[in-house]
Formats: sequence, C-alpha cells, structure tokens
Amino acid sequence: MARRTCANAFVAFICIPLFLCGAESAMSADQATSAPLAFDASRGGGVFGPTIAVDPGFDYYKEHPLPDICRAIRQQGFTAAQLIWTGVTATTSTVLRKYADAMRAADVTPVLRIYPPTDLQLYQDHPEWRQLMLGGADGKFDWRTYLCPNKPEFVKAYCDRVEDIMRDGGFDAIQLAEVWWEQWGGPEETPGKPRAAYACVCDACVKKFRRISGADARDMLTSVSSRWYWRKPENAALYSRWVDFRVQTIQEFAEAIISAARRGHAGANISITYLADARVEADASREYQGIDLNRMVVELKPDIITLEDSWQDWCQPELKPDFVADYARAYRDRIKRLNPGICIMSHADIGSSPASKRSPQWIHAFAVETVKNGFGAPSFYEWSISTLK
Ligand SMILES: [Zn+2]
Repeated sequence: MARRTCANAFVAFICIPLFLCGAESAMSADQATSAPLAFDASRGGGVFGPTIAVDPGFDYYKEHPLPDICRAIRQQGFTAAQLIWTGVTATTSTVLRKYADAMRAADVTPVLRIYPPTDLQLYQDHPEWRQLMLGGADGKFDWRTYLCPNKPEFVKAYCDRVEDIMRDGGFDAIQLAEVWWEQWGGPEETPGKPRAAYACVCDACVKKFRRISGADARDMLTSVSSRWYWRKPENAALYSRWVDFRVQTIQEFAEAIISAARRGHAGANISITYLADARVEADASREYQGIDLNRMVVELKPDIITLEDSWQDWCQPELKPDFVADYARAYRDRIKRLNPGICIMSHADIGSSPASKRSPQWIHAFAVETVKNGFGAPSFYEWSISTLK
C-alpha cells in the first residue's frame, strides 16, 4: 500500500517532538482529534498506518451518516479501518462492501477483521459444530461463539464465507484477530477444579488427541485420580503434547483462512493478532490458548503482526501510554529476528469498558510511544465506543 508516502513521513516526523514535550498535556482535545497520528511511514501508510476498528453491528453506525464517519476517521489520522465481521446476521457481505467503499472514498484503506472460529450464523445453524467447554457449555463465552476447528466441515464452511466476503468487498487486507481457544489460565482454576470455559473437549478433539497420544483428554484435564491426570509429574510430556496439539490446530486453521482470503482477493495483506501477555505471564498464551508467536510469524508469514494488549492492562484506568515499551522489550527484537521485514503493530483497547476509555491526547501519546519503541503503527479498538466519535 504505497500511498501518501510524503504526507506520512511528515506525520511521523512531527509527532515525536510532541511526545518529548509531553504529548498528553501539550494538546487540547480539539487539537488531538484533528492532528495526525505518529507511525513509521517507510511502508507508505494504508494498511501499515494507524488503524482503527469499526464494528458495523454497533448501534452508533445505524444512527449517523457513514460518509461523515469515514471522513472523521481519516481526519483523525487513521489510514486504515478494520471492519469487524463475526457472522452477525445483520452484517452481511453487502453491508461490509458498503462500508469498504465508503472508507475508500474517504481515503481510508478497508481491512476485514475476523475473530475465528467465531461465526454467529454458523453457530446458530450448526449446533453440531460447536465447541464443548470443560464446564459443559457449548462454545458460548462472553460475546464469542466458538465452533471447533477440528471439525473439517466447519473449517470449510467458514473459509468459504471468508473467501466470498474478501471477494465482494475487495478488501486490501484481512486481520485474523484472536484466533485461539478459550480460556486464559489453563485447564483448572485450582487442582481438581476445572476451568469451566476452557475448550475444546468435543468428541472430534478428544478422538483426534487419543489417536496421537492414546490418552483420554477429558480425564487428563479434569480427573485427579486418572492415570492421565495432567498435573502428575509423569504426565508432563503428555500434557505438553496436548498443548502442541492445540497449537497445531490453530496453525492449520489460520493457514486455511489465509488461503481462503487470498482466493477471494489475491494480493491481500495478512495481519494476525498475538495476545501479548508481556506484563502478565510472558508467552503463557501458547499453553493457555494455543497461540504460538514464533510459529505464527515463521509459518503463517503475516505482513503485519499485532501485539494485542491484554485485558489485565487495558482494564487499568490509569494505564500510561508508554506501557507499550514493555511489549517492545518482550517481543520486538525476537519477532524481527524471525522476520526482519514484518510490520509490528501495537494495539490499545480504547473503549471496551469505562476503564479502558482513553482521551484523544492519550491516543496520540500512545502512537508516539509506538514509533519510539520501534513498531510500525498503532491500532485501536473501537471507534464508536471511544472518545474519538
Ligand atoms: Zn473440538
């Protein structure tokens, strides 16, 4: 996306001094909502520039003119908008195309943002594809609806839908956001007390794991008296195989989605989020949620890797914009060693809860810190529930 190179070089240049003199206090709210955002302009902007998530399913968008919203987003310094699709029936391919066209008209590059394996419509239409969680729930957790990527029929149906949407909307990129298993923290809350939303232990997963290990996954994860119980020292290697098995499933699933996205729109850039647990328990998301940073970077070869801030960070009302430095220390050099050309994007949740709402000044300072710490560009969730609207 080699657009606006000169303008963006200017953006990156002027914002760094703002940080040095205290960006948060130096800008008024009005200045902050109309000033450009810092980013590394060497890739030319577009999908590699400041990025904001937009969920067409949110009420705000039904009540306000879309062209005005797109213009405001561009004016605030964003060069890309991630349009969220989670299979909600109202967010059809036609709706997504309308949003993508409106963004393009405002000089904002549209990106399709998905949350695999969440797909509300498939979840409703195909109960047999739902995940089974340790507490017995059928794949529903918070707003997510989890279908099982160890069920080939589901993977095919999901990929077909992604392919169609990419083709219809002509998206310049796709972001695989939070392609993982629930749930943070591992199979048990305490020894003998299973974590209810830990998934998946459906028949397909159990059968597949039994084939490669001989063990019963449900007994392994929940039964203290079982010969397979995962906390027994002699079962450390077995549990490690389970973790690898979950990682492998996520890798294969992501690979299938990426291929589908490229079938829909050849040349589309690929972006993936990694739940960056730098300030909580570094690299624990591999064990807990089956996401392996090294394998994602090396094997999936995304153009962009987004280090998603963890909820333990964004739920702090007093979080400082320079918290991104901890993420850089933990991951930046490692990622660049694995893939020197990759664009690393920071991420800040600026609206999910009252505690995560940030002022426009904070958002600008975060962008400055992003560049200062060697990342390509900042990204944020989500426009209509933030202070930017
Ligand atoms: Zn399963």
